[in-house]
Amino acid sequence: MNASKYLIVGSSHAALEAARAIRMQDDAGSITLISRDTHAPYSPTVLPYVVSGRSSADRVSLRTPDYFQAEAINRVTGQALTRLLPAEQAVELEDGQRWHYEKLLLATGATPVIPPVPGLDRIDYRVLRTLDDAIALRDAAGKAANAVVLGAGLVGMHGAENLAEAGIAVSVVEMQSQVLPGYFDAQAAELIRAAFDRQGVTMKMGRRAQRVEPQADGCRVHLDNGEVLNADLLLVGTGVRPVTDYCQGSGLDLDQGILVDDHMATNLPNIWAAGDVAQARDFYSDAKVVTGILPDAVEQGRIAGMAMVEDPALQPYRGGVPINTYTFYGQQAISVGISDTADTAAQVAVDFDAERGYFQKIILKDGRLQGISAINAALDPGILWQLILRRTDLSEVKAEFLAQPLETGRRLMSDTWR
Ligand SMILES: Cc1cc2nc3c(=O)[nH]c(=O)nc-3n(C[C@H](O)[C@H](O)[C@H](O)COP(=O)(O)OP(=O)(O)OC[C@H]3O[C@@H](n4cnc5c(N)ncnc54)[C@H](O)[C@@H]3O)c2cc1C
Repeated sequence: MNASKYLIVGSSHAALEAARAIRMQDDAGSITLISRDTHAPYSPTVLPYVVSGRSSADRVSLRTPDYFQAEAINRVTGQALTRLLPAEQAVELEDGQRWHYEKLLLATGATPVIPPVPGLDRIDYRVLRTLDDAIALRDAAGKAANAVVLGAGLVGMHGAENLAEAGIAVSVVEMQSQVLPGYFDAQAAELIRAAFDRQGVTMKMGRRAQRVEPQADGCRVHLDNGEVLNADLLLVGTGVRPVTDYCQGSGLDLDQGILVDDHMATNLPNIWAAGDVAQARDFYSDAKVVTGILPDAVEQGRIAGMAMVEDPALQPYRGGVPINTYTFYGQQAISVGISDTADTAAQVAVDFDAERGYFQKIILKDGRLQGISAINAALDPGILWQLILRRTDLSEVKAEFLAQPLETGRRLMSDTWR
């Protein structure tokens, strides 16, 4: 049987960060990264740029082959993990090979959720999660005239903009009443939707795809109001779910993702999980959540690696705070922390100017920043993210912060970092 002291499944943000943390403490122990992907590691966040052609598929890697050689990290690619065998401290891959581990990290991320729309299983639709998906979408876009995008989340909105810019007639179908739910409130989302409208993208809000009918040159999408949309390209961007199918029968505690403690340890000995696959402490509540965002994957990967190597500097995970920057048609939107609240104890300050396309919303509670979302406002999302994560007390500078969040935030953080 193959063996590796540290076995890491996945080769994206969480996996790479864990490998780095392990090597900092153990320069000799064998590390093996197993991935079902055949490409050099890359970030899924660059995929929209591969579709648009702004980045070429061979120039998006997070690490070069030299890095793995220099760090003595072994890679197994094009092989999916299919079974965990915890009693034997081993895993099984799709071709039947087995790997024994001393410490195992599951960093298998997330995969697109395909909604149960009748007929969809008979369509050659596209998704956007892997580099191969992006290459296939780019190639399909080169031949398409009409596209339908299911879902107005980040994947759907990036996809719709890219396809429209390639000269394709695009319709977006979203069952909720606004775009980018979770990232922006209804007022901000309306500014974004209107920008797409002005660019000729047809936005079907509050509508469901009821069934999809294959055609010789694509498909027809039937909506719940009786409308029918013709598409020679169908992009499904209706969310993601953690990749956990290999956990069946292993005894690993699962909920929406793999449940972990504050050191990213699972309920089974010598097995950790990190990134989009893990369900960990929430920053805002006592619940455990799957956050599905890049900075969390990095942070959780780092903590898991430190725990696996028993690094004495290890600090417990404090929960993840979302941070997103989203550019659409040259306009800049940011969303850090929560974008909406039903909490009557929270203070919410909104500044909105539809004509200028300007929006800024600040949510404070007990003198602490809970979230900020904005469109076309000069803000530094990294600073705001730090203020939330550190639960910085803003009580004494509240008025100043509400009037000038950029300058006040910078001053506070430079005092903290000094
Ligand atoms: C288009 C797009 C835009 C995004 N934009 C943002 C953004 O603006 N901000 C943000 O915070 N986040 C964004 N994200 C999300 C971000 O990319 C993820 O949070 C991050 O990549 C999670 O990293 P991860 O290492 O946990 O998992 P992933 O990046 O999902 O990687 C999982 C790894 O596991 C491997 N794998 C999966 N299953 C198996 C298996 N069974 N066996 C072996 N290997 C397996 C995969 O090949 C891959 O290497 C975006 C995602 C997409 C797709």
